[in-house]
Amino acid sequence: MSALLLEAKGLNGWYGKSHILQGVDITIRDGELVALLGRNGAGKTTTMRALTGLLPRIEGSLVFDGRDILGRPTHEIARSGLSLVPEHRGIFGSLTVEENLNLAARSGARWSVANVFEMFPALAGRRKTPGGKLSGGEQQMLSIGRALVTGPKVLLLDEPTEGLAPVIVDRLVELMGELKALGLSMLLVEQSLDVCMAVADRLLIIDGGTIVWEGDGEALAAAADIRDRHLTLENA
Ligand code: ATP
Repeated sequence: MSALLLEAKGLNGWYGKSHILQGVDITIRDGELVALLGRNGAGKTTTMRALTGLLPRIEGSLVFDGRDILGRPTHEIARSGLSLVPEHRGIFGSLTVEENLNLAARSGARWSVANVFEMFPALAGRRKTPGGKLSGGEQQMLSIGRALVTGPKVLLLDEPTEGLAPVIVDRLVELMGELKALGLSMLLVEQSLDVCMAVADRLLIIDGGTIVWEGDGEALAAAADIRDRHLTLENA
């Protein structure tokens, strides 16, 4: 079995007095794509934020690439190779595509700005366009590109397909497959069960701030009761 890259055990997380994460356990092995599913408000984004040092208070155990990262600052976690592509894309609207990428790029990263332009020819054609003027699909690609040029070991993708046209969703599914084939590990938060089935090695369901189910796509397809209990129609 390949090496363990990320291990969260008994992760608890709070926003002020609201105790949102109530003992989350997640492991990601080298080269694995793990999907995190759950209803609105189940705690998916909060989990991503907890893993990347963006929650005001967390407890439990969090080890990434052999290092204890619990309570470490976000920039340090990102530097160690755990890179978040946030739900609302987090790109700078007034900076051009190229500037957005150059700002994030780190020397020695596996993907350069030129690699990102090869991967996304549509972005290459718009390199001088401000981020805010891009379509939703292009913004998503820029956001992924920005994470790649930081040199991640694990990429955390928070609902990358949300609100995008089916043809763009297909391209993103293809891209996740390509990145996986290159050995990149990913944690994907995703509403569409179809997308999860297409790309994920393993699926986790979160409900009420706890992981309530774990298995592969085939097992979930067969588990109608689990889907009814913990997912919504949007996931179908
Ligand atoms: P969605 O699909 O709607 O994004 P999610 O599974 O990502 O759902 P989270 O955003 O993690 O859900 O929210 C989990 C819980 O935390 C919800 O009850 C939400 O109201 C609460 N929450 C989220 N952000 C904050 C915040 N900044 N302050 C206080 N409570 C928050």
